[in-house]
Amino acid sequence: MRFGCHVSIAGGLYKAIERGVELGCEAIQIFASNPRGWRVSPLRAEDVARFKEARADSGISVVAVHSTYLVNLASPNPEIREKSYSRFREDLERAGQIGAEYMIIHPGSHGGAGLETGFDYVAEAFNRFRQESEVKSMALLEIEAGGGTEIGGSWDNLCRIRDRIEAAEEWVGLCLDTCHSFAAGYDLRTPEGWRAVLDTIKERCGLAALKLIHANDATGELGDRLDRHSHIGHGRLGLAGFAAMMEQPELHGLPVILETPEDELGNFATNLETLRQLWRTRQKQGNTVNSR
Ligand SMILES: [Zn+2]
Repeated sequence: MRFGCHVSIAGGLYKAIERGVELGCEAIQIFASNPRGWRVSPLRAEDVARFKEARADSGISVVAVHSTYLVNLASPNPEIREKSYSRFREDLERAGQIGAEYMIIHPGSHGGAGLETGFDYVAEAFNRFRQESEVKSMALLEIEAGGGTEIGGSWDNLCRIRDRIEAAEEWVGLCLDTCHSFAAGYDLRTPEGWRAVLDTIKERCGLAALKLIHANDATGELGDRLDRHSHIGHGRLGLAGFAAMMEQPELHGLPVILETPEDELGNFATNLETLRQLWRTRQKQGNTVNSR
């Protein structure tokens, strides 16, 4: 598996690559613009060039852009929906410009209008993008914890949105956040729990759609719909949950990106080391099994 972190772009886009390299990341995730404001400053050609140059011999094989938190393509409010579309388009185009493989987006909240309406609005935005712009990076729908009126709180919901997007298999994939998935009611503490999720995805839209994992332990209980990330091994999923993830051969080719907190309990470096240690143990066990 390839491990990495969400890194800051403070000081310039290329700084994200430097931070990733320093941490020993094989994959990174970034915000391509201010994640908490609607205003976007233009992406300059020299910033793009510097980013690509820094990436070239960095050992970073996957770059993912995370869309802005303000974006809610499912909003029943037409004004917010339009603003969200502009920003979604901007983020997806930026991802393409900097050569990012993926742009990750939360499906959003229907705000009382109902799931079906929410699914339609999100799919509408995607289909509009495909008409108005050029698809250069894949867009990944990330599973949500499903609190409030969030529409992305189940694998079935994500696949129902994807079903309504034209040529989805070419440019729309899925992102599995371990914390959100657990909060949404999928028990990822055991290999059987992981198996069940992978079988569901396989059945509903094919496992090829799953492109990336967000590795975060969960502070809340199974199914409590709380989106609270914890350090790997310090939450309800525990080390066993992440070891169980590594037992799934279909996931071995995927990038695994940390979005864990940075506080007195630890930081990206410590969480990366925890994941890598689990992975080394898993590989040793794998070798013993093979040599038997
Ligand atoms: Zn996430």
